[in-house]
Amino acid sequence: MFKYDLIVAGAGVAGLTLAMKCLSGGMKVAIVEIKAAEELGHNWADSIEREVLENPDIGLSEEEITARPKGLHIISPLQSKEFFLDYAFEIVDMKLLHRRLLKKVKELDGMLYFEVSAVRPFLDSSGRCKGLKFNIGDKAVELKADLVADCTGLKGAIKSLMPQSSGFKVGLPETDTSRAYREVRRWNGKGEEILKGWLTYYYGVNGGYSWVHPETDGRVDVGAGIQLGKDYPEPETTVQEKIKQLRLGERLRGGGGVIPVASSYPVLYSHGVLLVGDSAFQAIPTSGCGAGNAMRAALIAGNALLRSRFNPDERGSLYERDYFLTKGADLAFYDVLRRRMQSFSPETLDWLMKKNILGAKELHASIHGIYQRTPAFSSLLKLTYGLTRIDVLLKLKAAMDIGEKLREHLLNIPYGSKAGDKWLQKYHDLLSETYHFD
Ligand SMILES: Cc1cc2nc3c(=O)[nH]c(=O)nc-3n(C[C@H](O)[C@H](O)[C@H](O)COP(=O)(O)OP(=O)(O)OC[C@H]3O[C@@H](n4cnc5c(N)ncnc54)[C@H](O)[C@@H]3O)c2cc1C
Repeated sequence: MFKYDLIVAGAGVAGLTLAMKCLSGGMKVAIVEIKAAEELGHNWADSIEREVLENPDIGLSEEEITARPKGLHIISPLQSKEFFLDYAFEIVDMKLLHRRLLKKVKELDGMLYFEVSAVRPFLDSSGRCKGLKFNIGDKAVELKADLVADCTGLKGAIKSLMPQSSGFKVGLPETDTSRAYREVRRWNGKGEEILKGWLTYYYGVNGGYSWVHPETDGRVDVGAGIQLGKDYPEPETTVQEKIKQLRLGERLRGGGGVIPVASSYPVLYSHGVLLVGDSAFQAIPTSGCGAGNAMRAALIAGNALLRSRFNPDERGSLYERDYFLTKGADLAFYDVLRRRMQSFSPETLDWLMKKNILGAKELHASIHGIYQRTPAFSSLLKLTYGLTRIDVLLKLKAAMDIGEKLREHLLNIPYGSKAGDKWLQKYHDLLSETYHFD
């Protein structure tokens, strides 16, 4: 039977980017996707890191950019403070982006299977994945490969069928996920409340934020993301209220879904399976942006697979280590900070922003997922302000200390994480402290 170098399950941004990278390096790759080709991609535009789009392997396409915000306009929960920040993301039409990536995969002779069902790993007696089994209509198909990538999004369809010995983390506590919803509405270009050209974030709303973004004079994108597992209203409700308040017109497009806001579990490769994108919880925890980082992770994985061609396990472990060294460890720091911020009341968050403890620099870094050493303590001035509410400051400081330890720990991830049970135990110990923030 013909054997692929790699089978990718899921043709989202993670799967398509990974397939494209590996095909361009000469690997034989198949993609298996439950949807039809024309259904790929969300029916809206996502914020994606410019730095990722400018990678020559992805390529920035002007026709996919739906808007270029002047910057980020952040409003504190009680509206006592506002910030105007640089925004290093592009607003990208997800349908067009998927279409372009798919075209490249086809040009590179990737094998594509759409509208499949019952996708499952094909395991040998030791539990190692040797390929995928699935159905196309009534026909059963079996494909063999050295490696399989689970790029099926948050549900992690392949990893959830792997034996427990793989060590994969399946599912997240609800409070480590967020439900997001957005709609693009027609707009007559009027209304003082809408700041033309700026992406306005209402920060700290229901364990997340809501936003209003006039993409052009004729269109506004309104959205919200809330923390799940709490008693918060659905994001649709927040969005509809805002649409009514702003008297926006006809709905042009939109939709919603659940996104991971935790950081990646250290086991990203095991038993012949790689996890990339939402299936590996690779979003920026403090903003919920997962598309750009899914593409970044796919490029890191692709590079690792192409670097060493002989031993699949070695290639998988390289990806795991490279991901944490490049970005994963920084995002773990923000995962801890996110959990702490979500434990604060809107009043406390507002106070932190008003006092510039959570100031422009800190907000910019956390929304973009750029690690900064002890961001909230960058000046003595901030410390002096903080003395009026030392309890809050100490909680923040304790969270950042854990975040930094966790980051440092992940930067020292052993090559092949299961080689280090003690290392993994310390990871769990550090993380478990963060689930007791009150
Ligand atoms: C309302 C909303 C707004 C968002 N806004 C932003 C934003 O502005 N910026 C940002 O960066 N991120 C945003 N995100 C998150 C972003 O969309 C995801 O992080 C990103 O799509 C993850 O890409 P992925 O390829 O890992 O997974 P997905 O995009 O979920 O792709 C997974 C693919 O796998 C397929 N699949 C599922 N099960 C199987 C199976 N069993 N077998 C084969 N294939 C399967 C699916 O059909 C899908 O095509 C938003 C999400 C939502 C819901």
